[in-house]
Amino acid sequence: MQFHQPTSIREFIELSSNLSDQFTTLLAGGTDLLPRYERGQALPDHLIDLKKLSDLYHINIKDDSVQIGALTSIQTIQENPLIQFEFTALHMAAHDFAGAQIRHRGTIGGNIVNASPAGDLLPALYAFDAILTLIGPEGERQLPVQEFILGPGKTALKQSEILVSVTLKRNGYKSIFQKVGLRQSMAISVVNLAFVYSQKEDVFDYLKIACGAVAPIVVTLDKLTSTILDSTSKPDDWPLLIEADISPIDDIRATAKYRKQVVINLVKAFLKGQLDA
Ligand SMILES: Cc1cc2nc3c(=O)[nH]c(=O)nc-3n(C[C@H](O)[C@H](O)[C@H](O)COP(=O)(O)OP(=O)(O)OC[C@H]3O[C@@H](n4cnc5c(N)ncnc54)[C@H](O)[C@@H]3O)c2cc1C
Repeated sequence: MQFHQPTSIREFIELSSNLSDQFTTLLAGGTDLLPRYERGQALPDHLIDLKKLSDLYHINIKDDSVQIGALTSIQTIQENPLIQFEFTALHMAAHDFAGAQIRHRGTIGGNIVNASPAGDLLPALYAFDAILTLIGPEGERQLPVQEFILGPGKTALKQSEILVSVTLKRNGYKSIFQKVGLRQSMAISVVNLAFVYSQKEDVFDYLKIACGAVAPIVVTLDKLTSTILDSTSKPDDWPLLIEADISPIDDIRATAKYRKQVVINLVKAFLKGQLDA
């Protein structure tokens, strides 16, 4: 295996274009990748380490948006005061993420491209309608996170492309994240949820609920939220509306039935104002 460490995006693109017909993998923090190699997954012919790409470490605050570089660590996201106040669900997800070592090493880009149904940053990124910036030999393109993640471990990343940054609009919405795992942060989520909302006199005028680990990809509970926004559903209707958007499975961490009930309980608690950031 050959190891490469480009120092600029231009160098990365040149290198990955030259290797486009070879088995190549990108390495960020390695917290998903290295355990896979330890478990016996085949090593690539070329490993491109991204860590020297200084343009991918930033949190740029603009008047109407925040741009987070793909190599920004989970710890940096957790510590950023603007993310804590304006994108609280993302802050909470970073806070409840693994232990300190993994939070310092793991990156937002790795969490997105790994495309795990239980990835903890993903519900908040879905609920905030994050836009991803990708760069490759054909130039730069933007894609909503919902269109980038195609299935477990599957994304729309093209050959020789790199995820450069994540952009969030500063809409002033409130938000909350909830993670249920066998242990609080040191375990893969059994269910994780992000609630992004705005209210006037206790009535929602914006509401998005994104839910992880209950389907092959993160799902938004649109059937429920649309009926809450137009006041056409009652609490008794909520469980069926929630179930219409999720399709959990039994696995070693929990049964489908348990996952369904946890989602219903957490959503009900949120809608009754019983969850705090
Ligand atoms: C002990 C332990 C605890 C964990 N706990 C959690 C947890 O609580 N919650 C959670 O969600 N996850 C958890 N994880 C999983 C992992 O830490 C996260 O998914 C992390 O965000 C991955 O980031 P990374 O930089 O280490 O990715 P890497 O392992 O370096 O890469 C992951 C994938 O993304 C690709 N990639 C990375 N960056 C880019 C880029 N910029 N452009 C294109 N492709 C890219 C890589 O090629 C690879 O396919 C845990 C892992 C371990 C080992």
